[in-house]
Amino acid sequence: MKKIYLLLLCMASLASYAQKTYIHCGNLIDGKANDVQPEMTIVVEGNKITAIEKGFSKPGASDVLVDLSKKTVMPGLIDMHVHLESETSKDQALQRFTLNDADVAFRAAAYARKTLMAGFTTVRDLGGSGVNTALRNAINQGIAVGPRIFSAGKSIATTGGHADPTNGYRKDLMGDPGPKEGVINGPDDARKAVRQRYKEGSDMIKITATGGVLSIAKDGSGPQFTDEELKAIIETAKEYGMHTAAHAHGAEGMKRAVMAGITTIEHGTKMTEEIMDLMKQKGTFFVPTISAGKFVAEQAKVPGYYHPLVVPKALEIGPQIQETFRKAYKRGVKIAFGTDAGVYPHGDNAKEFGFMVEAGMPPMEAIKSATVVPAGILGMSDKFGSLETGKFADIVATDENPLKNIKTMEKVSFVMKEGVVIKQ
Ligand SMILES: [Zn+2]
Repeated sequence: MKKIYLLLLCMASLASYAQKTYIHCGNLIDGKANDVQPEMTIVVEGNKITAIEKGFSKPGASDVLVDLSKKTVMPGLIDMHVHLESETSKDQALQRFTLNDADVAFRAAAYARKTLMAGFTTVRDLGGSGVNTALRNAINQGIAVGPRIFSAGKSIATTGGHADPTNGYRKDLMGDPGPKEGVINGPDDARKAVRQRYKEGSDMIKITATGGVLSIAKDGSGPQFTDEELKAIIETAKEYGMHTAAHAHGAEGMKRAVMAGITTIEHGTKMTEEIMDLMKQKGTFFVPTISAGKFVAEQAKVPGYYHPLVVPKALEIGPQIQETFRKAYKRGVKIAFGTDAGVYPHGDNAKEFGFMVEAGMPPMEAIKSATVVPAGILGMSDKFGSLETGKFADIVATDENPLKNIKTMEKVSFVMKEGVVIKQ
């Protein structure tokens, strides 16, 4: 009986695999080529692309046709900097005391769905409480709908630093968070904090190399880690197969992180030409998050929206990021697309494309910075990031050609993740 059941199960899966999906693409941007290819067909079987053919190939009788012949088709987008656990609001600081993990989880699931609907099939979650890692697992198991997540778990900070979870609390609530909570002082703590993240299932390590805008603390730019601490974190992360990302606004903390071998610099607000050249030399990527800078600078003008300590930082730092991006791109620093979603409302991730193009990056390069480039940083170049035979069928489409109108990226009208149509 068991054998027959197994046989039936095999046949059923064979049958479902035999059915192919033919996607007729009006224009195809495959993530690799520099040109748009007109009238192409992508053949999908199961969760993978099994062929890409010139012209509109005719599907067989049992196959499915997806007609995107009027659209521009491209690889699923990747946002290298999101925070799925939260979203900007006037009450955000208070929510740390009013929301339980379960409340955070339901919200995160909704934000994840919104992100996927916007065409982002993969994200890197750069810091939360650990719900981000649980959400990753739920999505991988098909329990929740959302992008594939690479999670940093909880960010690592130093005492009073940008990701110290008790900044701004009353003294008796402050306690003394340590490496387990992602707060370190000294290289031994640093190593323990990385190992703790590994134990909790983080995919990579996020540190806050300098002060930040939205923490309830005065300084938004100064360095917050010593060279020894950075070295301990990055070396230990490498030993566990994890790459590293550093939040950095000010030059000194940014330079230290680059020198220590960080993989990506986030925000990079006060990046000097010296740092740009160091990044080129060391192969460090810049993840600009222009969207977040613009959003916080705008919101800071709304009375009472942010804590009084946050307002001057938001007004000072926010507007600078796009200009830094312009200079860094021009100088040849490697760019990976990232937005800091959560700092602004989830689902608006693609606005970043417009900001990048506005600052001098050609649309095709902006699209590559959100597809093939980040897939490489994540060590997933053989799995996704471009449309090629053998890769996951992570496919999105826009109504217009983004090389002619980049704003069309904000209205993705078709989303497929691993061969499953999510939005049509
Ligand atoms: Zn962030």
